[in-house]
Amino acid sequence: MSSTPSGRFAPSPSGDLHIGNLRTAVLAWLFARATDRGFVLRMEDLDRVRPGADVRQLDDLRALGLTWDEPVLYQSSRTAVYRAVVDELVAARRTFECFCTRREILEAPSAPHAPQGAYPGTCRDLTAAQRERRRAERPAAIRLRADVSSFRVHDVCRGEFIGDVDDFVLIRGDGIPAYNLAVVVDDAASGIDQVVRGDDLLSSAPRQAYLATLLGHRPPEYAHVPLVCNRDGARLAKRDGAVTMADLAAHGVDAAGVLAMIGQSLGLSAPGEAVTLDLLAARFDPAALPRDPWIFVPPEHPRLIGGPAGKPRPTEAPQAGSSSSPRTK
Ligand code: GLU
Repeated sequence: MSSTPSGRFAPSPSGDLHIGNLRTAVLAWLFARATDRGFVLRMEDLDRVRPGADVRQLDDLRALGLTWDEPVLYQSSRTAVYRAVVDELVAARRTFECFCTRREILEAPSAPHAPQGAYPGTCRDLTAAQRERRRAERPAAIRLRADVSSFRVHDVCRGEFIGDVDDFVLIRGDGIPAYNLAVVVDDAASGIDQVVRGDDLLSSAPRQAYLATLLGHRPPEYAHVPLVCNRDGARLAKRDGAVTMADLAAHGVDAAGVLAMIGQSLGLSAPGEAVTLDLLAARFDPAALPRDPWIFVPPEHPRLIGGPAGKPRPTEAPQAGSSSSPRTK
């Protein structure tokens, strides 16, 4: 693994990417290339894997023109590395075993002034005998013994952001390394100093930056970018219609058409203009990124098999919603 300063895209291969995921991937690539960084592709396949989804995701990203500098990193190949990091934290007394179920955590009275939803500390100070007893009931998760309750990160889109940090899970009760741990370990190992991802993950950044600091790494610079939403303003999902590359192709929108829509949604290209990723990179200005979600209205009528080939008629192309809204805020 190289330590060239890099950006990255880190999908979970739980299904096909939809246009919101694809737009975030394009943005991560544009941010990295516009700032002379390398670019890393990582499969977050510790959990909820759908067989074949990784290959389809990579095909879709390549079809849009994305390139990456190293072989794709699969988290499933790195469980020994995560384990070794946790062993060090255990040895340094920075962890504790937790036997709580989700329900117990929800029902436990929270400590005064603790952030809502924070781990209430139930298992933080169990005695050796108590731990021994509880191990017989269920396998323990390993939590970080956090010594802060909040942490500050710098976000290119949001400015300074201070968010909650609690005793978050490092290794789940089922033995699977937790998302926050794997992200931090892998970002550091791959030289990632710029994290561009959907702004639904903003609240995870303080935990990850805190853990990175504890492990002796400099936290990356973050850019949590606006999500793509459906007509009702909710986060776009597969059930919203033709939202994946395959669905869109069936509606006559090929990869070039998808890239053109993404470019338009970012204010980087005009309606109907043919674009390439390099052209978008030449025009990309991180400071001018639209701050509002992009409302995506999927096309409704699949192209008839054997019907006229070629580009979709403009009226069939999805609307670029609020893409032309002023970039203020
Ligand atoms: N794998 C996560 C997801 O697909 C993203 C993780 C990250 O970018 O930190 O939502």
